[in-house]
Formats: sequence, structure tokens, C-alpha cells
Amino acid sequence: MKKIISRFAPSPTGYLHIGGLRTALFNYLWAKKNNGQFLLRIEDTDQNRLVEGAAENLIKILREMGLDFDNQEPMIQSKRIKIYQEAAKNLVAEKKAYYCFCSAERLENLRESQQAKKQMPRYDRHCLNLSPEEIEEKLAKGEKHVIRFYVPSEKKTEVNDLVYGKITVNNLDLDDFIILKSDGFPTYHLANIIDDHEMQISHAIRGEEWLPSLPKHYLLYQAFGWENAIPEFVHLPLLLNPDRSKLSKRQGDVAVEDFLAKGYLKEALLNYVALLGWNPGTDQEFFSLKDLEKEFSLEKINKAGAIFDLQKLNWFNAEYIRQAINNQDATYQNILNESKKILATTYDLEKVLKVSGSRLNNLSELKEAAAFYYNLADYPAEMLIFKKSDLEKTKLGLNLALENLAKITEDQWQEKELFELLDKLIQDHNLNPGDLFWPVRVALSGQEKSPSPAEILWVLEKEESLKRLKQAVDKLS
Ligand code: GLU
Repeated sequence: MKKIISRFAPSPTGYLHIGGLRTALFNYLWAKKNNGQFLLRIEDTDQNRLVEGAAENLIKILREMGLDFDNQEPMIQSKRIKIYQEAAKNLVAEKKAYYCFCSAERLENLRESQQAKKQMPRYDRHCLNLSPEEIEEKLAKGEKHVIRFYVPSEKKTEVNDLVYGKITVNNLDLDDFIILKSDGFPTYHLANIIDDHEMQISHAIRGEEWLPSLPKHYLLYQAFGWENAIPEFVHLPLLLNPDRSKLSKRQGDVAVEDFLAKGYLKEALLNYVALLGWNPGTDQEFFSLKDLEKEFSLEKINKAGAIFDLQKLNWFNAEYIRQAINNQDATYQNILNESKKILATTYDLEKVLKVSGSRLNNLSELKEAAAFYYNLADYPAEMLIFKKSDLEKTKLGLNLALENLAKITEDQWQEKELFELLDKLIQDHNLNPGDLFWPVRVALSGQEKSPSPAEILWVLEKEESLKRLKQAVDKLS
């Protein structure tokens, strides 16, 4: 059986787009599932779009996400310019490509006149008629030029995509596209297929936006005589905003590094992104990277655009945070380390996380969610009185709590014991929970909504808890 080799071939733009993460992930999974190889290639031949440090950043994020690639060093296209130039010239020698010296102005005029005649804009092969001598002369003079691929006019081109099926185009609808630009750099099409061939890629998995380029790539494979070693193509459905527009930066975060900086867990991001355009065919929703390596399959990739739903990602992330805190696993250590950067160590951070961490969508919410432990905001005295209670009962509840909590020792100061103590006070004195639990909670948090009183007592510990309860009693007298 043919060895499975996939690749992620990003053009470094300065950040890893969430769609790029999905492409990388699917390529990675397909390779792992088949004991194959997952390779990285940096497609940096567009000199106008170079961003310093972008490739390094990309590599760092991929590693951080756990999607390590199997080539020792990524293939970097900008270091291979000679190879592409050579290949383009070979195609010229074989009359499968030709030099074009047309000026931008001529091309613009051509486009306008075609548009005026309602024709499809295309290159008119003006330079195909140049004699070898004319070409030599122009090249010798250093005239600005590109190399265009000669699209055989007579045929149709048929290509198969594993997700979208058979794609057929009439060659007449394909322009003689540029393969080598006037700056001597290859276009995406040329470099992409030369490299896929050299890397022996078995599966090219990439975004749907490349589907229209597929016939061009196929023609290039043919021109080079590589049609027996064409990779399988797998195009992934577009990622959409909830309003079905194309997912873009304008409507919110799309950079993986922004999500990480906000405290999204990589496990949650990977899990969520895996489900964008792929489904396991069962009801299972939670997948670790290892699970995905087993379960992933190309047949379960859908054609329909996949909606990137931040609510759903938040839900996954909240679940992952909760699970990590309960299981105290490796992810939990990450969370704990991150929390140390966010919060002061006045209180036991493990306790803070246990109580307030399981209510978070992401870790950056921790600062706000935990603020009341560190700083009790002023609150109006009326907030202490539950809507079904009254001043007298509230005072009674608070005083009972204060007196009885003062009596218990530091060792007994545990969540369960604290809850039982408060609960017993309610029973013994014939109070409603709202007469005691509510004011104690408000006294401790200064908020109408917060974790339960026993949980907060446990985090704040005895001294601070009693101090806050006294303050509340004073407010009411
Ligand atoms: N450089 C292209 C991109 O950034 C690669 C497309 C492909 O995988 O062929 O999407």
C-alpha cells in the first residue's frame, strides 16, 4: 500500500487562522491514523505579503497545539526559487509554457475591451507568436516578463476530489495562467505542485477556496509527466460565521493565538475545530487528540459550509476546564500555572479554581470571576435581604452564622462541614434558606450571584470570612 503522506502548506500571514488550524489538524490526523507522515511546508513566495517572524510564529503555535510535523525542518519555498525557475524553463523548452512580455497597461486594455464585449477576461496569447529570436532579444535586453502556462485548448479537464467528487472544466475556460512572476518567484500553482510531487504527498487536504485551482494543478501534473503520481485531493468545506458569511477577522477572533491568549484550552480548540466539517457518525462529542487519531476518516467530511459558533466553542472550553479541575490532570497543571499569572496568591489558588473555575468559559474570565475574593466591593445594605425575607430574619440569620462559625476550628473549616453547619442553623431556628444562605453569601461576595456560601467560606478561610460577616451585621444595624 502506498505510504500516506500529508502536508500543511500555509502561507505565513502573521498568525494561524482557525481555518488553518483545521487544515493542519485534518492533515495531521489523516497521517497519524495511517501511520504516515505529516509534513510542513511554508509557502512564502508572495513577496508582497511577507511578514517578519510569521513562519516561526506558525511553527511555534503548531507545536503548542500538539500538531508536530515529521520533517526535521519545514520545506521553505523561498529557499527553492531556482528549482521552480528551472522547472518553468523546462516547460518553455517543451512548448508547454511561454514567455510573456505584455505590459500591465496592455493587459488592462485587453481586459477592458473583453469586458465591453461581455467576454470572459483572458490572456489573448499575444506573446505566443513571438519568434525565438524576438524572445532572445527581449530577454537579453532584460525586458520585464512572466512565464505563462499553455493551457491545451482542445480538451476538457477532469479531476477528482474525495469530498466534492468529479470536477470537470472546459479548458477554454482556463486562462493561460502565470507560473513564474516578473520578480522571478513562482506562483502558488507552480511551487505547490512541484513541492507536493517532491515530497511525495499522497493526500493534499486543504480549504475549499483552492478547489477552483484544481484543474490547473492537474494540467501542471500532466505537463510535467507526473500524472501517475498525483495526490488525492481533499477540499474542506468553508468556515462560516453564524450569518453564513465567510469567517473573517472583522467579526471577531479568528487567530488561534488570540484564543490561546484568552485562556481557551488547546484541547477544547482542537476538539471543536475537529467537528468543523467532520463528524464521527455517532453522538460522541468529546475527543482527545488521541481519540481523533483513531476515529478520523475522510469519508465523514461534509461538503456543506461549517459554522464557526463561538457559543459552542465556549461550551466545549467550559467543559474542558471543569473536567480538568475535577480530574486534576496535566491540563489542570496548565490551568493552575495560567491562574498564577492572572491572580494574586492571597488565597489558595486550587480552592479558587475549584469553586470559581468551573463556571468559566475561558481562563481570562477568571480575574473577574474571582475578583470578589480579593476585593469586596461596596454593596447596598438592602442587597442582604432576600426578597422573601425581612430585616429581622436576615439579622438573625447573619448573627447565627457569625457566632457559630467563630466557634469552629481552622481544621473543621471544610466545605462540607461549613455547609452542614449553616444548614443545621436553618433547621434548628426554623428559618428559610433565604434568611441565612442568601445574606451570608452577599456578605461574603458583595454580589447577588456568586458561588454558594460554604464554597466562598472555604476559599476565604476563617478570619476574612468573619470580618466580612461582621461588616454585614454592622450595615444592617
Ligand atoms: N499556501 C496555501 C494556503 O495557505 C496552500 C494551499 C494548499 O494546501 O495547497 O492555503
